[in-house]
Amino acid sequence: MKIIDLSRTITPGMQGFPGDAAPAIERREDGGFRTASLSLCSHAGTHVDAPAHLCSESVTLDMMPPETFWGLALLADVRGAAGRGIEITDLAPHAEKLAEADFLLLRTGWEDKFGTEEYLAGFPTLSREAAQYALSLGIRGFGFDTISADSVASEECPIHKTLLGAGALIIENLRGLGALPAGETFLLAALPMPLAEADGAPARIMAVLEN
Ligand SMILES: [Zn+2]
Repeated sequence: MKIIDLSRTITPGMQGFPGDAAPAIERREDGGFRTASLSLCSHAGTHVDAPAHLCSESVTLDMMPPETFWGLALLADVRGAAGRGIEITDLAPHAEKLAEADFLLLRTGWEDKFGTEEYLAGFPTLSREAAQYALSLGIRGFGFDTISADSVASEECPIHKTLLGAGALIIENLRGLGALPAGETFLLAALPMPLAEADGAPARIMAVLEN
């Protein structure tokens, strides 16, 4: 068994969605012990979006049962979709395995640009039709190696609305997707911090591979 960590380490000032406060960590040593005070946006680093990230929805992460955060995942390699977007035709070859899976992880290749300006633009996003297609196959968690499920410039955010509006989770800022087998299913744990009234939360995301 092999465990692959798909989460980014949270560091002070790390890149986030434009306008979000960057993480701050204030360290102290007192009486021989170290502690730290953390200041985090609920969407810092690798994180999970709850339906309640949309003001029109009310389900927060802490309202969801623990089963929500575990399941079978399928990785689709969509690095070829840059410049055109991720369409049903990119997902249809995986239809049989998607029907068994709970999570769909999309490898756009954008994780390599993390920390640079290029990370924030030009990445392929799901078409609304492709999002609905995956939802119709029973996918209830969508993971991206990008800053957002929609383009940063999008004001409408159609993919957030489609997925979160259907009660699904979104995972953003995944890393390490190259270590996963494309087109195969594996166990995924997507465990957000246990925050009250969480519209989103930084999360530890791990894949469990059989060998
Ligand atoms: Zn988010």
